[in-house]
Amino acid sequence: MTTTPKVRFAPSPTGLIHIGNARTALLNALFARREGGAFVLRFDDTDQARSREEYAEAIVRDLAWLGAAPDETARQSDRVALYDAAADGLRAAGRLYACYETQDELERRRKRQLARGLPPIYDRAALALTDEDRAKLEAEGRKPHWRYKLDPVEIVWNDMVRGECRVDCASLSDPVLVREDGAYLYTLPSVVDDAEMGITHVIRGEDHVTNTAVQLQIFDALGAPAPAFGHHNLLTTASGEGLSKRLGHLSLSALREAGYEPLAVAALAVLVGTSEAVRPVADIDALATLVDFSNISRSPAKFDEHELENLNARFVHDMPFEDARERLEALGVGGGAAFWEAVRGNLSRLPEAADWWSVVAGPVTPVIEDAGFCETAAGFLPEGPFDGASWGAWTQALKAATGRKGRALFMPLRLALTGRDHGPELAPLLPLIGREACLKRLRGEPG
Ligand code: GLU
Repeated sequence: MTTTPKVRFAPSPTGLIHIGNARTALLNALFARREGGAFVLRFDDTDQARSREEYAEAIVRDLAWLGAAPDETARQSDRVALYDAAADGLRAAGRLYACYETQDELERRRKRQLARGLPPIYDRAALALTDEDRAKLEAEGRKPHWRYKLDPVEIVWNDMVRGECRVDCASLSDPVLVREDGAYLYTLPSVVDDAEMGITHVIRGEDHVTNTAVQLQIFDALGAPAPAFGHHNLLTTASGEGLSKRLGHLSLSALREAGYEPLAVAALAVLVGTSEAVRPVADIDALATLVDFSNISRSPAKFDEHELENLNARFVHDMPFEDARERLEALGVGGGAAFWEAVRGNLSRLPEAADWWSVVAGPVTPVIEDAGFCETAAGFLPEGPFDGASWGAWTQALKAATGRKGRALFMPLRLALTGRDHGPELAPLLPLIGREACLKRLRGEPG
């Protein structure tokens, strides 16, 4: 019997999510979408001091923009009773033990271990504490933090991305699951929720490989069946640094504000660092068909902003007017489908259309290199209103009259009419600029 997948994206709402987080979110969301499963957004917000509602709201908005809106949303801060129950069970089973070392004490021990050439793992000194020792420490005002007692065994699983994975838990420190102030670190709540929610596949970044070994032990200790795990490669900057919340311009919010297409961002986030070519896709369902965990490379995926810019341009060049209409209106761009079709091939991002619209609507400060030629050109302008054939008729007549051709013919016209030396084809723009403005500009007047 096959079960319907249920997956989750579990960001901490401590900052804006970036394109690297989008990769995790989309791999989950698109897998669920394609398989008819469910995608849960689960805020990892047990760190109340660092979690912020505004970031949670931004994450919801960014996922919706990306085409990865969740089917269900949950917050770990609402589920603490479940974690308390699980922690109590682990304490009763002797798996969660109280420790009283301060950070300084731990650091000193670590240095001693390193100096002796030993691995700097927690020495489990707290396991030797008697009830009296503990009572004494607590009487001194010390509060315990709680560590999970790992079995010193090798944990093996068949990773959806990486194939067989092995982690030797004997080389790991017993992880702290509960802090001194009683707050849960992410490790236990994540397991409790994955089990309670019936998560079937945990798809996340490869920075969690070691956590998986620990969490597999905890699933076992809680008597819960473990989900399948897949750890995808991480996105790095072109120079190989990890993406972080500090790189604000790579946040999804910043990319949206910079005018990138959500589908271009999604396609790059999903396809980079896989054996699939980074390319435009028709829609989010088409992108979902390309998600294949076994195609994800083992080495880091480099995120290059130029690649995004180029991919985005390919989306914009093919974008039908109907898909652009609302955003063009919001930018104050007129000219309807005729204008859009005239300029889209020159745009990397849709909002750049506003710039060309200002050239069409004016006023433009013309650049006149050869006033005599421009005056002649003005004299040959066809009668209005202009249509799609006006440009051809005009330039043919000018060519015949002046003997000019190629750049010598066209560049002075472009400079006069647009004030620029490059841009979209002028033939479709001419009717939008209109005869009157053309005349003014050819005479060197702003129009
Ligand atoms: N909050 C963790 C992260 O964003 C969740 C990891 C997980 O998916 O289990 O890295």
